[in-house]
Amino acid sequence: MELRKGIVTDQYLRTNVPDIYAAGDVADFFDVHVEKHNTMGTWDNALSHGRTAGINMVGGEECVP
Ligand SMILES: Cc1cc2nc3c(=O)[nH]c(=O)nc-3n(C[C@H](O)[C@H](O)[C@H](O)COP(=O)(O)OP(=O)(O)OC[C@H]3O[C@@H](n4cnc5c(N)ncnc54)[C@H](O)[C@@H]3O)c2cc1C
Repeated sequence: MELRKGIVTDQYLRTNVPDIYAAGDVADFFDVHVEKHNTMGTWDNALSHGRTAGINMVGGEECVP
């Protein structure tokens, strides 16, 4: 699994390991708004990442907000 400031993910919170996602504080996620990777340590971010990762784990294709 790729690590930098956290666990590296794409904008769907997918890691480079098949079927493994990262969300919340640990995720070094690709932020489509600024087009670079970012980490964020807030409750709001953890909540929205959990929702996004959950949707994508069951076949959705939702970007981090
Ligand atoms: C003192 C403090 C004050 C804060 N105040 C605010 C605030 O006012 N507003 C705000 O937006 N944010 C605040 N934050 C940040 C906020 O708490 C975090 O961004 C948020 O809790 C992250 O949620 P998370 O689910 O990503 O991680 P966490 O809440 O850290 O949850 C991770 C969980 O994984 C568990 N875990 C770790 N390793 C393993 C393992 N190997 N196996 C199984 N379980 C494991 C941990 O025990 C923990 O329960 C504060 C943080 C701190 C420390």
